[in-house]
Amino acid sequence: MTSQSSTPHPLYARLTPQGVPPRPVRAPRTPPPPVRTSPRALRTGLAAGAGLVLALWLVQAAPSLWLDALFATFAHLSGLLAGYGILVMLLLMARVPAIEHGIGADRLARWHALGGRYVLTLVLSHAALALCAVSAHNGTDVLTAALGLLGYPGLAAATAGTAALAAVGISSARAARRRLRHETWRALHLLTYLGTALAFAHQLSGPDLAGGPLAAWLWTMLHTTVAVLLFWYRLIVPVRQVLRHGLRISEVRTEGPDVVSIVIEGLALDALRAEPGQFFRWRFLDRRLWRTSLPFSLSAPPRNDTLRITVKACGDHTRRVRRLRPGVRVWATGPFGAMTAHRRTRRKVLLLAGGVGITPMRALFETLPGGPGDLTLLYRAGNAAQLVLRDELETIAEARGAALHYLLGPSDGPFDPLAPRALDNLVPGLPEHDVYLCGPPGMARAAITALKRAGVPASRIHAERFTF
Ligand SMILES: Cc1cc2nc3c(=O)[nH]c(=O)nc-3n(C[C@H](O)[C@H](O)[C@H](O)COP(=O)(O)OP(=O)(O)OC[C@H]3O[C@@H](n4cnc5c(N)ncnc54)[C@H](O)[C@@H]3O)c2cc1C
Repeated sequence: MTSQSSTPHPLYARLTPQGVPPRPVRAPRTPPPPVRTSPRALRTGLAAGAGLVLALWLVQAAPSLWLDALFATFAHLSGLLAGYGILVMLLLMARVPAIEHGIGADRLARWHALGGRYVLTLVLSHAALALCAVSAHNGTDVLTAALGLLGYPGLAAATAGTAALAAVGISSARAARRRLRHETWRALHLLTYLGTALAFAHQLSGPDLAGGPLAAWLWTMLHTTVAVLLFWYRLIVPVRQVLRHGLRISEVRTEGPDVVSIVIEGLALDALRAEPGQFFRWRFLDRRLWRTSLPFSLSAPPRNDTLRITVKACGDHTRRVRRLRPGVRVWATGPFGAMTAHRRTRRKVLLLAGGVGITPMRALFETLPGGPGDLTLLYRAGNAAQLVLRDELETIAEARGAALHYLLGPSDGPFDPLAPRALDNLVPGLPEHDVYLCGPPGMARAAITALKRAGVPASRIHAERFTF
């Protein structure tokens, strides 16, 4: 007996009901995979750049044992390194996707904060050494030397640049940062651009670059490249995203006493190429919120027409987010963050969330590839009432054959569910897992220590903090 296939012959399948061959349809263009810079590649590149700066200084340094010449030589070295360091700081914050997606926003912020201290030290050392050089050369005291130098327009501008950079540095010190509103701190940070421009003008007229046209050209190109990257990724790309996607709140859903999920609809959102585990900076065009853009992770896999975030009210802004209503327009920039599937190196994955850190984990829990038994989600919270998106997590766990455990109890309670032995009991074969971790700073620190003690190598712990 011959069975009749219900599948039409390929030729008929290609005919329209009227028997006319359809016009060839072009297959949708699959976007190339995102380019990601690895932390090691970036560190190597930056160290090589610093090496070149050192070489530039060495080529021009004239050996001398006179005190003024020694001061001047090291003033030049610290000046060149400070100029280079400022550029590196700007590059780290330029939101270049390859860097953001490869390194991760919180790690970049930590590098930037640490590097900023070194750069400021170099800037101040440069100023101090230059003053000492002039006072040793002229045989005057440092104050007279300083007043004399301020008479030169280039040096007065450099002094203003140094003051601008110092103001940024001081406002970023932990004690000052705690007292400043986030918006004030960000506004003060804009002084970096002024400081950089003034420093650049000073460097071009300085002895290390003025004498060498090639060095001056390279220095200018370096500055131009960073300026173009900043302009493109911090201004043009966000404006283009706003115009293209027309984002608007379509739903605000209460998830718990202090938590809401916000669904945002828009056009052609696939073009954003957002991935589960990433976050956007959101500016809600509401009377009370339009002035600030707040970082929130995607709490569900992104779709071509909607994105979803879940927000816990913990301060002034997030309390206002809770009161948002459908229809409010949204400007979003992103995606940012590197805690995505690309970090995975093992078949088995542990997702470890604390508090509202569940949001990126929820999206990863649904989408990370894997069969039954490959995925485990541990969710730490004070008590059951604080668990967010619980129904969704349980549905995903059941559908995927994934393990889901709630670790409940106060953080100062007698039993520590994040102790190495407790983790080991809950997750058999823990050292063979990749671990994705997101939670409050204290919990994240404790979890990283426990995971390392339980045998998970640091390179397989992928953590993101909700603080910059
Ligand atoms: C990458 C990332 C992803 C996040 N994802 C989520 C999420 O999915 N759900 C959620 O509920 N929370 C998330 N957060 C935390 C959330 O962004 C902050 O809780 C919120 O911005 C604090 O605002 P607030 O005014 O209500 O609190 P405040 O009490 O005023 O501030 C609390 C802390 O947030 C910092 N902060 C305030 N405004 C900003 C800002 N515009 N940008 C960066 N930091 C700021 C402050 O410096 C302070 O350290 C995330 C944070 C980061 C960095």
